[in-house]
Amino acid sequence: MQLSEKIKHAIRDVQDYPKPGIVFKDITPVLADPSLMHEIARQLKNDFQSQKIDAIAAVEARGFIFGSILAHELNCRFIPIRKAGKLPYKVRRREYDLEYGTACIEMHEDAIQPGWQVLVQDDLLATGGTASAAGELIESVGAKVAGFSFIINLSFLPGYKKLQERFGVNPQYLI
Ligand code: IMP
Repeated sequence: MQLSEKIKHAIRDVQDYPKPGIVFKDITPVLADPSLMHEIARQLKNDFQSQKIDAIAAVEARGFIFGSILAHELNCRFIPIRKAGKLPYKVRRREYDLEYGTACIEMHEDAIQPGWQVLVQDDLLATGGTASAAGELIESVGAKVAGFSFIINLSFLPGYKKLQERFGVNPQYLI
């Protein structure tokens, strides 16, 4: 079976979570499958090892899991982007609209140096609000968004196009 088929097979659709009408893609069964996680790590490494990447910026919480795996595979820095109020030092912040509600993310102001090429990793791309806010945080310190990487792209939502238009890169995803 192809990797994409294995991932699709493992993901659990949860109806009406976190609100009525939303079908939530639950990736916890993917995390619980070590051979599948190994394959995902290999694939992510293959996809990005030829690119110059100085740091992986990942969004709390599920982005941390795949982002830290990718940073380890590429032997580059890991930068946590967190929900408001979680980081201890001075932060830059961005507010944005979610598929369901609004949110705010923050990054330590000294986490990324001007001129770095930074790849944004998250588990899932929906409206693109979260990834776009992460990209804006990266640009706000004079660094460049090298790309976006997701496990899942919800292709019926406008996130892919939004990131393409705003940042001039083609987001990558596994399913
Ligand atoms: P966006 O900002 O609308 O693109 O939503 C993406 C963010 O919301 C990511 O950080 C995801 O972790 C989270 N998210 C939205 N929908 C789902 C889902 O169905 N499963 C898992 N995470 C989701």
